Amino acid sequence: TVRVRFAPSPTGHLHIGSVRTALFNFLFARHHGGQFILRLEDTDTNRNVEGADIQFLDGFRWLGIKWDEGFDVGGPYTPYRCMERLDIYRQYIDRLLREGKAYPCFCTDDDLAAERNQAEREGRIPRYSGRCRHLPEALRESRMASGEPYSIRFIVEPGRELVVHDLIRGDVSFQSDDIGDFVIVKSNGIPTYNFQVVIDDIEMHITHVIRAEEHLSNTPRQLLVYEAFGATPPAFAHLPIVLDEQRKKLSKRDPNVLPIATYQSLGYLPEAFINFLALLGWSPGGEQELFTVDELCRLFDLDRVGKSGAVFDVEKLNWMANQYFKALPVAQAARMVREQLDRAGIGLPAHADDTWLEEVVSLYQDGMRCAHDFIEMSKTFFTRQVEWEDDAIVLLRDPTARSVVEAYLAHCREAGEAWTAEASRERFKRVQADLGVKGRQLFMPVRAALTGQLHGPDLQKTIALLSQKVVIERLSAALA
Ligand code: GLU
Repeated sequence: TVRVRFAPSPTGHLHIGSVRTALFNFLFARHHGGQFILRLEDTDTNRNVEGADIQFLDGFRWLGIKWDEGFDVGGPYTPYRCMERLDIYRQYIDRLLREGKAYPCFCTDDDLAAERNQAEREGRIPRYSGRCRHLPEALRESRMASGEPYSIRFIVEPGRELVVHDLIRGDVSFQSDDIGDFVIVKSNGIPTYNFQVVIDDIEMHITHVIRAEEHLSNTPRQLLVYEAFGATPPAFAHLPIVLDEQRKKLSKRDPNVLPIATYQSLGYLPEAFINFLALLGWSPGGEQELFTVDELCRLFDLDRVGKSGAVFDVEKLNWMANQYFKALPVAQAARMVREQLDRAGIGLPAHADDTWLEEVVSLYQDGMRCAHDFIEMSKTFFTRQVEWEDDAIVLLRDPTARSVVEAYLAHCREAGEAWTAEASRERFKRVQADLGVKGRQLFMPVRAALTGQLHGPDLQKTIALLSQKVVIERLSAALA
């Protein structure tokens, strides 16, 4: 059966690129009825960020990406945190040392820097000279016994062609001459990524490694480690790089890229994200762009993942997010909006209740990408102080416009006036009859006086929802 893993390093926020990798693994596992494993690669201890693991779990839970085995739920190959697996790596390392496939290296950082500088001066690709490989056994023993720090290097025979059979890119060839003996255990005793990842993928019976293109150049090293243990490597699939709109590698610091937790707290819908990310480098062909998670599980496979970079298109994300948000039942949208209002410390007006909020939300929902958008869009309903836009101010200097507002205001003050959109429409009809103005000339001045803007949602509904008191106050203030 198919077994895939997502193996993040807890070095920061959960970002678009890593979620895309996780999602492709998840969809691939579901499509093939296999298992998806979440492993925490925390061996680069200096770079670990406190709490990053929890953030990953929260992010995936929000997105609905589920795993069968992992560092929170365990599983048959527990533990799933690499720093808890050091004993396992130790056995593999001892075996390589016994078999003469690896050796201790006492070179200091300064020694290595000197070697690198020299290679650069001579225009060679810098790689380790293999100096410690040929130390006499006795010297090696005594230096180890004396407590001198050492790393462990893996022996790479020169002159070999190493071919990665990639499911997305086909065969990619590397030369062992360019690699050199590489470190598999650092002087602090912790294995490096290129070693740890192979041991874990062997131990956890991973069948397909689906990961970012950035790792392609690591793969020949990893193939050598598989070979040293006589293990069959999994199939590899390196996902196309994610690019920004300038077609450069998308940076985590790109202002358009927010941590997943931020999208979550802004009230985006996870389904929109999944849909968007699924199309970042994959397409099922055809025109359809909106897919449920079930459809994605059914359709997804690696043969339709592209080789070339996938552009992170913010417009498309906005479009997608809007498609999902506007399709929400209004009650649910209003609940999400309520959370945003609460968080921003914005209370409902005195006359408002849940139904009122739903009606206001329904005025804006078609234009929203996320619940948070409401706060900017709906200010007119929550502010005491109307913000005036220039074109609204200019319009209200016009004598006809003022007389429309005056006439409408007068009808608003009439006793016993019902306060509905329908009643407002009737008032406008009366103003039209009184003054002989109609269309834009009729509605625009009132909109401007009421909201300070010349555009906005349905005017009659806006008036009905603003309450009689507020409408009278604002129109009077606009004329003053
Ligand atoms: N820990 C690696 C990373 O965060 C995982 C690479 C892999 O999937 O092999 O990029």
